[in-house]
Amino acid sequence: MADYQDRLLEIHGTNMWNGYHTQRAIEFAKLFDLTGIIFHCNDIIDRAVKPDKYFPPNVSLLSYNNRDGDTKNYKYYLKNVIEKITNAGLEFYIEVKELYYPHELLQEFPSLRRENGAVCPTDPFWWKFLEEKLREFAERFPKLSGVIVSAGTRESMVSLAANTCNCDRCKSYDVDRWYRELISAMFRPLDAVGMKLIVRDFSYTADHQFAMVEAAKAVSDKIIMALKKVPHDYYPTFPDNPTVGNCGNLQQWIEYDTWGQYFGLGVLPCSVAEDMQGRMQRYLEKGASGIMLRTDWERLHQGSTFNSFNIFNLIAGAMLGKDTQMDLDDAYQAWLNYGLLSPLEYDSCPQVPCKPLSPCALPVLKRLMRESWKILEKTLYVRGHVFNRNAQMFDRYFLTYFIMTVQHTRDHWDPHASDLVKPTEENIQVMIQEKDRAVELAYGLRDWLKPEELGVNAEIERYLHFVIDCCGVYVEIFRQQIITAAYLRRAEEEHDPQALEAAASTLPAYSDLAHRLADTICSKGYSNNVEYVMDPERVLRFQKDCEQTVGHLRQVAGEER
Ligand SMILES: [Zn+2]
Repeated sequence: MADYQDRLLEIHGTNMWNGYHTQRAIEFAKLFDLTGIIFHCNDIIDRAVKPDKYFPPNVSLLSYNNRDGDTKNYKYYLKNVIEKITNAGLEFYIEVKELYYPHELLQEFPSLRRENGAVCPTDPFWWKFLEEKLREFAERFPKLSGVIVSAGTRESMVSLAANTCNCDRCKSYDVDRWYRELISAMFRPLDAVGMKLIVRDFSYTADHQFAMVEAAKAVSDKIIMALKKVPHDYYPTFPDNPTVGNCGNLQQWIEYDTWGQYFGLGVLPCSVAEDMQGRMQRYLEKGASGIMLRTDWERLHQGSTFNSFNIFNLIAGAMLGKDTQMDLDDAYQAWLNYGLLSPLEYDSCPQVPCKPLSPCALPVLKRLMRESWKILEKTLYVRGHVFNRNAQMFDRYFLTYFIMTVQHTRDHWDPHASDLVKPTEENIQVMIQEKDRAVELAYGLRDWLKPEELGVNAEIERYLHFVIDCCGVYVEIFRQQIITAAYLRRAEEEHDPQALEAAASTLPAYSDLAHRLADTICSKGYSNNVEYVMDPERVLRFQKDCEQTVGHLRQVAGEER
């Protein structure tokens, strides 16, 4: 019997609307014995149902012709792919954010908008609308296995978390009650037809960590909790998610990212299999019974694990889901048997996966995947703190410490962790040493990674040369950015003129770094995501922004004297 009973492949980008990609995902899922596929699209329900009760056919056709046509289009596509997925013996799930609604709804029901322009999230209308929407979706797509929901996050269209409505009801509404009402409105119509409801726990702070679990428990113990592999988001350096093992009788599924929103987006190769193995073993002991493996990201076109070396993580995740004690070497071998794919090509361009012919390919490529993680860990993180913007380098000073210590802070789960990145001289030296080690490993690739010796095709050889050429300068930019940021931070907080001059002295180097990066990636015909991750313009914008900050701080210091 498999360690994890439910093993799902999640498509989160526009790829789900591409029949070629869906077919490829189905074939992959069958090959690696996954149990289902998830289409994660925030408003997928609103794309495919109107619902009829709120938009009767003639009203819809005559007043909202565009949407009427769009919903029909989505209905036929979904019906078609759901049939393909379920005929292959796989389950099909959708993943949504609620509350979501089509903007036409406000035209039909203008009273949902209050005098100050805000849409009121506590209007009882929403629960009836949501229940009807789910009921109609389940009826139209009877082969659906279940719905996964992010309830009331800031990313949904209406939520109590980001509420601007100032009506009397909203002022005193209990947030726990609001979550319960939302979850009940979804659970009732799904449970009535034997479909599952899976509630995601997505919290920014430890206070909210258990709110969703409590709300789900209060509705039904048939609800499944979906929990990220670490609290907040997919950072491999963070501690385990404390909610796992604390969900009472509710089943628990754990979410993993295999592509790399926070580890290079597949442009640089990176194994997180070793991290996944440890977490899957520990979470199994805490009673988790399912895994969700994300393969792409909603904000990017034309990229996924399927045009990246990081498909290795998907393969390893699928195999670990069955046997968490397995030898990862078997996953590395299964990856080479499946074949290598290059991110320099668009994801929608079919590539024939390349199976390396040389016997030395396995140890070399395994070393590459493991060592790349060591490089990225010391590049995209600073002493375990998130120091990147979805694998991008920074384009302004403000975001550096904001991302590390506020937006993606680890203090909630690792108290006082941010003391490690305070700009003391001692910390700055440790942070520089960490980056120096990454630079050394990145330039070290040249010494042992010899693409010509691996027996790979021209496309993979070209990609490996790209990795060798880009990796060093990419790492050096992050190294320079933490030095600049730390001294600027100290100058700002402590009005320290020496720190200010130290920061200023780091700035000229960005011109050369940006040029070197541009030389390796621009106008080479690479796919769009290469430039997304390695945009030299961002380096120059960072330089300019820091120059302005230095100028401003010098002016303030002058006025104080
Ligand atoms: Zn209100």
